[in-house]
Amino acid sequence: MKAAIDETHGLELRSWVDSANDPTTDFPVQNLALGMFRARGDRAAPGAGIGDQIVDLTAAAESALLDAGSAKLIEACAAEGALNPLLEAGPEPMRALRRALSRVLRDDTDEGRDARARAATLLVRASDAEHLLPVRIGDYSDFYSSVHHASNVGRMFRPDNALLPNYKWVPIGYHGRASSVVPSGQRVYRPFGQTRADSEAAPQFGPSQRLDYELEVGAVIGRGNALGTPIPIASADAHIAGLCLVNDWSARDIQTWEYQPLGPFLAKSFATTISPWLVTRDALAPFRVPLADRASEDPAPLPYLADATDRSQGAFAIELSVWLTSARMREERSAPFLVSTGRYESSVYWTPAQLVAHHTSNGCNLRPGDLLASGTVSGPAPESRGCLLERTWRGTEPLTLPTGETRRFLEDGDEVVMRGRCERAGFRPIGFGECRGIVSG
Ligand code: MN
Repeated sequence: MKAAIDETHGLELRSWVDSANDPTTDFPVQNLALGMFRARGDRAAPGAGIGDQIVDLTAAAESALLDAGSAKLIEACAAEGALNPLLEAGPEPMRALRRALSRVLRDDTDEGRDARARAATLLVRASDAEHLLPVRIGDYSDFYSSVHHASNVGRMFRPDNALLPNYKWVPIGYHGRASSVVPSGQRVYRPFGQTRADSEAAPQFGPSQRLDYELEVGAVIGRGNALGTPIPIASADAHIAGLCLVNDWSARDIQTWEYQPLGPFLAKSFATTISPWLVTRDALAPFRVPLADRASEDPAPLPYLADATDRSQGAFAIELSVWLTSARMREERSAPFLVSTGRYESSVYWTPAQLVAHHTSNGCNLRPGDLLASGTVSGPAPESRGCLLERTWRGTEPLTLPTGETRRFLEDGDEVVMRGRCERAGFRPIGFGECRGIVSG
């Protein structure tokens, strides 16, 4: 089923929740991002972001504000403590819930008038809530989709042979670790590991000295596929329930020593932070765009990765940014330092649907809630490089923070915040909320 623009995307729609009408909010009534939260020590509850508030979807269902099908799915998500039952239901029920929620939160509907009268039971201030992982992630795979990232990293380590010969043919990825994926706001501990700074000396074991972040966009799988049954590229997009932001924390010194010949392992598996909201495929319908054109000398994708619709609208127009605040900056109340800004659609070489088609092309089964991350999103310009390894060029071009401190890699107390926002003329901008983490020693 195609994601389509409908009445829920109308530019003129307003919510009875005032903060949702603020032009700078990530969560106007046109977004309706879904997540799981806990308030006042209660059980995990499904919610939808609206302005600076969260709508408690269980309360909405109990107040008979949702249709029976949506209410049943919300009940199942509440029982499971994750949105997986909704993802498993597929695109039609997800769209039905979106339509129902839109009516509940608009200021010009009967449902909206009813809901406004019950605001005290329906709304929780987002800043008072604990954000949880929106979905139960069974498996997490991380790709290497940004050709600029792959070229930069290649140039650092292999000046003569920056891009390996497989890059433009096969979406490169590795199996990540789902157990250490944490929601935004959770502390991230500096990993210990084996490193070898001096190629003449024996390796050492100790805390990583080259801790880094990676700015990524994650696709969350909706309906899965049976083992042995690949998802064809033409239907792959419909298996994506939505997107979130991903920080794939990386220990470069551990990675450099361990990665050959099987790829990243303990350099990545200590933590991955995701933004707490699933911005649904339906919410993103106005922001579908083509990927940047491949260079004329580049190969065409093999048939199992080629599809005309994916070619014309398989990507998403997202502006991404990374902000850093050191402990001293917080003490001095200095504003966060903007480390980089970039654009997803002009930086990646493969669409999320191509990643889904490739991942399942050997018969591998994906399941609802699986996370497929893009890989570091870096653009061609230095200020659009999505990790410190590239941004400081392996530490040779340190950044200077407003306090005069310098950064090659992350120090204890550093807080990294990632943001993403979609804009298009004629539509209300929407955003992803924050993907935030503080490094602890
Ligand atoms: Mn990564």
